[in-house]
Amino acid sequence: METDFTKSYYNEPMGLTHDISTIKQQYRELFELAHQRLLDLFAQLHANHHCTQCETPATSILEILHTDCGYQAWQKEVIITLDQTIGKQILESLEKIEQAKNVKGSCHQCGVCCSLASSEFSYETLQEKAQNGDYFAQQFTSVFLPYDSPEAAQAKFPEMVTEILDQADGPVYFYHCPYLSSDNKCTIYNDPRRPQICADYPETPLILMYKNCGYQPWKTEMMPTTLLAHATLELCQYYSQKILDALKAAQ
Ligand SMILES: [Zn+2]
Repeated sequence: METDFTKSYYNEPMGLTHDISTIKQQYRELFELAHQRLLDLFAQLHANHHCTQCETPATSILEILHTDCGYQAWQKEVIITLDQTIGKQILESLEKIEQAKNVKGSCHQCGVCCSLASSEFSYETLQEKAQNGDYFAQQFTSVFLPYDSPEAAQAKFPEMVTEILDQADGPVYFYHCPYLSSDNKCTIYNDPRRPQICADYPETPLILMYKNCGYQPWKTEMMPTTLLAHATLELCQYYSQKILDALKAAQ
């Protein structure tokens, strides 16, 4: 499989990771693990099926089978198992990660997540996305304002901005929230203007996080589980679609 599954996680606003290359490597390893587990599952379910017409059993779950082949039931069972059993496991895993957030981590009110957000998208693009109904962009642009220049962001956060720029493979735009007080308090904390994305921060261990952020212990501990869950989800979507295609081609 040649698709670069890692790509999609780094394109969200504020989605740049602390150390992209390490995480990409970790993701690839866990992707292989998730893949092997699914292949084992396919093999296990294979034993439940047979075909009176096939001289040799179907070997690949993606095979285009002959009409009324007994192994189509295998393909269907795999789709259902991916959707229900594995899907449920992924959800449970993501719920555990979320539940651990305020156990393993806490906000130390450093204010960095409010003062330095980054995105591959310019303010104009984000506004456009917001107008087109993009939930994140709507929330983000409802409070965040762009820095006048990357240099202005760099002057305030030299280390982080340099790191982000070094690791980005395209343009990066920096933003800050004007509702942060000088003592790092949110001045719209109990106000309906405060977006849900702020309440949810950090939404996933995959996002960019200041190295002294109080959620770092959570991020570090939950990273492998998160990557494994995302890899499994990507693989389930891939296989479900490909098996459906094979089933359709057989009919
Ligand atoms: Zn057959």
